[in-house]
Amino acid sequence: MQQIDQIVQKQRMSEADLIHLLGLRGEEKIRLFRHAARIKEEQVGNRVYFRGLIEFSNICMKNCLYCGIRRDNHTIRRYSLSDGEIVSAARFASENKYGSLVLQSGELQSRQFTIRMEKLLREIHTATGGNLRITLSCGEQDKDTYRRWFDSGAHRYLLRIETSNPGLYNKLHPDDGHHRFKYRLDCLYCLQDTGYQVGTGVMIGLPFQTTADLAGDLLFMEQFNIDMVGMGPYLEHRETPAYAFRDLLLPREERFQLALKMIAVLRILMKDINIAATTALQAIDNLGREKAIKVGANVIMPNITPGEYRDEYLLYQDKPCTDENALDCITCLETRIALTNNEIAYGEWGDSNHYQKRDKGPGTRD
Ligand code: SAM
Ligand code: SF4
Repeated sequence: MQQIDQIVQKQRMSEADLIHLLGLRGEEKIRLFRHAARIKEEQVGNRVYFRGLIEFSNICMKNCLYCGIRRDNHTIRRYSLSDGEIVSAARFASENKYGSLVLQSGELQSRQFTIRMEKLLREIHTATGGNLRITLSCGEQDKDTYRRWFDSGAHRYLLRIETSNPGLYNKLHPDDGHHRFKYRLDCLYCLQDTGYQVGTGVMIGLPFQTTADLAGDLLFMEQFNIDMVGMGPYLEHRETPAYAFRDLLLPREERFQLALKMIAVLRILMKDINIAATTALQAIDNLGREKAIKVGANVIMPNITPGEYRDEYLLYQDKPCTDENALDCITCLETRIALTNNEIAYGEWGDSNHYQKRDKGPGTRD
């Protein structure tokens, strides 16, 4: 017990400290969770920000070995929402006082896509009177595209590094020139230089991943000075090459507990960032997101994609709520969040406190 108290007070935690914390069980784990909950309450308050999530297209040019919507999965129906459908989902978010929006998709790199998004961002801005903060999560793009989207009104960007260990990254991505760790990292730097609030994240419980890798992921987020994090357990999908490694995985409940510990430790390490309670947590435990909120997360992304498309955005099996509509989602979440003694910060943008305090723009990194 004493060792936990000493570690969590440190200004700088070492890899060994983080490995120790991630290995805690029983009473010691509960002590860690309580400490993270205290820090959350002091630093960001017991408030949860909503980001309406629109999964607007599952068309992807990439082939990540773990992902259910990878290019070579021919068993799914591909879709792309029309601009009208996206704007109407954005209006729904605005009318229901969500404060912000996340537009997520498979990855497309083309001039046509860049221009479409630029136009769409402006349309959303007009349709909602500029009262939504917009986050994009559309993968790796070039500098010009990131700049154009920023100038059109997207001020946050989520790009998970997936794992900060380049060797593990290479095991989980094909070597075809489209999946380079270094390029992904450069994209994160480029986003930061452009002025975005930058979010990243990792999958927890990947095949071949060690606790030292996860400790490295936490140090990566700290060193990168990230503003927001979305991380959750890796979940298998039968129609992906990574399914062949399923026998190497931790049992799902252990992956879930490890994900909660990652969130709690990250809250202690980076006290003022925004941390999302991701949907993948709920795929393992029906109360997964609420448990994450109790140990440090402060953001939830209710899915507002029109219900008819949700079954087609299956990154992994057992994805929850694919049969609900957006209103079902809110009612269910309000009840669930009330149970965690947190309140929903309706109508607030919920910018990352960390972003507001940190140095910004090119040349400000160590
Ligand atoms: N295409 C964009 C990208 O890759 O950055 C954004 C969409 S992608 C579907 C969003 C995230 O889904 C990825 O960053 C990855 O971490 C997560 N994901 C994909 N397959 C997963 C799986 N089998 N289990 C858990 N998360 C998964
Ligand atoms: Fe495409 Fe993103 Fe899935 Fe990779 S994780 S296959 S880039 S949607």
